[in-house]
Amino acid sequence: PREALQGLLLARIRDVPDYPKPGVMFKDITPLLADPAAFEALTDALAELCTRHGATKVVGLEARGFILGAPAAIRAGLGFVPVRKAGKLPGATLAQAYELEYGTAEIEVHAEDLVPGDRVMVIDDVLATGGTAEASLQLIRRAGAEIAGVAVLMELAFLNGRDRLTPTLAGGPVEAL
Ligand code: AMP
Repeated sequence: PREALQGLLLARIRDVPDYPKPGVMFKDITPLLADPAAFEALTDALAELCTRHGATKVVGLEARGFILGAPAAIRAGLGFVPVRKAGKLPGATLAQAYELEYGTAEIEVHAEDLVPGDRVMVIDDVLATGGTAEASLQLIRRAGAEIAGVAVLMELAFLNGRDRLTPTLAGGPVEAL
């Protein structure tokens, strides 16, 4: 049941105040990762969301989206595609810039990894302002692939990241475990 899963996960997420800067409550998932039963339950739940929403591929967002997305992809029988910060991928890439609180950032994906006919679930640990997830949705669309949805461990609902994704998702799901 969902409440049991939430209890298992929440008990293993550490709140770190004022990290990496004053005013931010950092959600540290390393205690969860260190607990094999909790990590497996999370992996199973993310994999189930991929299956439920008809995904054919998983995109993981650097860096904790790699840790959560890769085992979920394997569990669901899907391939895994890393979306990385700019300058890390050696092949031909698609790039997408997005706004941060101060300045801009850029993410990239190998162009050959996302193709028309793919249906992609985006996985990350925390949905905050939604800027990173929204940029990844733009990349997926520009590659001509379909979006299955966005699945995260945690949503910081007071930042309204979900609303930022709504126009691009066009009714597609944002799942926060
Ligand atoms: P955003 O683009 O604002 O939605 O931020 C999402 C990205 O930043 C994710 O990749 C998260 O891992 C990270 N992030 C943002 N806020 C937090 C937080 N309070 N605790 C942990 N990670 C965070």
